[in-house]
Amino acid sequence: MFDFMDMDFNSGGETGEPSGSGPYIPDAGECMRCGMCVGSCPTFRLFQVDEETPRRRIRTIGKLLVENQPVSDAELQHLNNCLQCRACEPACPSRMAYGELFDRARAALASQAPIDWLAKLAFRVIEQKRWRNRLMPLMDLYLKTGLRTPLRKSGLLKKLRLAEAEALLTPPALTALKPLYPATANRRGNVALFTGCVAEPFDRETLLAAIKLLNAIGFDVSVPPQQGCCGAIHQHNGQSAAGLIANNLRVFNALPVDAVIHTASGCGAMLSEYRADDDAAVQLFGSRLADINEFLLQHWPEDLLLKPVDGTAAVHEPCSQRNVLKNQQAVYALLAKIPGLAVAPLADNRICCGAGGSYMLTHPDNAEALRTLKTQAVAAAAASTVVSGNFGCMCFLNADPALNGQKIVHPIRLLAGALP
Ligand code: SF4
Ligand code: SF4
Repeated sequence: MFDFMDMDFNSGGETGEPSGSGPYIPDAGECMRCGMCVGSCPTFRLFQVDEETPRRRIRTIGKLLVENQPVSDAELQHLNNCLQCRACEPACPSRMAYGELFDRARAALASQAPIDWLAKLAFRVIEQKRWRNRLMPLMDLYLKTGLRTPLRKSGLLKKLRLAEAEALLTPPALTALKPLYPATANRRGNVALFTGCVAEPFDRETLLAAIKLLNAIGFDVSVPPQQGCCGAIHQHNGQSAAGLIANNLRVFNALPVDAVIHTASGCGAMLSEYRADDDAAVQLFGSRLADINEFLLQHWPEDLLLKPVDGTAAVHEPCSQRNVLKNQQAVYALLAKIPGLAVAPLADNRICCGAGGSYMLTHPDNAEALRTLKTQAVAAAAASTVVSGNFGCMCFLNADPALNGQKIVHPIRLLAGALP
């Protein structure tokens, strides 16, 4: 069990005072071991032991990055149990940049050990649009031919460690998005849409809803086909995302647009924290980057009235939205534009749903335990619709049979559906 007597106030930080405002990346040695992050951590909630807390993970990260000390297998396992939800960051009086420290630790570990064939394959598929384009018709065929049930029963998927990924499969979109969607109302400007590598085929409805809404408020939407994955899966798993970042900077910075819009908060969190050698390119990219909810809210025409929708919407707040983008209030403000719709937060929004990027595939038992808590909250909400602003969370939650067919959708799909 977690024990406050284990706290060591004499090591780490000097004053215990939070730092002033402005960018500040403390190193792992500056953790005060105060334990204020403990209650926010989903793995502590699951396991109730101090080894599964942010402060113990930071101690391990300190060994790796600062002290250059060996780390035991047990410490490594506890470190890897982290969902990278970053709920510990806002709770920390020292403003520990946990996400950044964790990525650095993962990169240090990855440089010491080769990755296995499955991870290598997954990284290549994420990197290469050509590979994804070839894979999608095969996935579609697999879902249509009825192979799914016998293959699942055969145990082969488990043997190949593909069972968790296969459980998430839904029919992919097989056609490419058009490069340009012109405004359907008085033209006010133009934007580019960041589609996401996996969301482009598997969450096409959200992307089309974004385009419809942006067009309806007077913006042309460009969808540059050369764009690629945001790089989050690579970076959070110790791989270099530099090539993916450089590609997106080049592609989007070359476009004469007013904004670059992202729809999935997981991608948005990564895009908003891009770092690269070319600082000017990062600055330009960041200055035009916008979250779909915030952009719509900011540019919504006063005379655009939506059709009424009876019912209630429960809002799931993804960790990337709450802890990194910190803009979840935009979702409530946007949905309030739909007459008749009652909007409320889902209970216990501060706890991760278990998806955690690739965590749902690498730590299926922990992810499942957290998803069960979330689907219980969904059932208790008894809402006509549950919305989530992150594709990864939606995908993982929607694959839970306990939802009994209820589908969690992106909030902008409700909005697009209510357009006159
Ligand atoms: S709240 Fe911050 S300073 Fe305190 S133990 Fe957690 S990470 Fe360390
Ligand atoms: S990122 Fe999330 S899971 Fe990891 S230590 Fe912080 S709160 Fe816990």
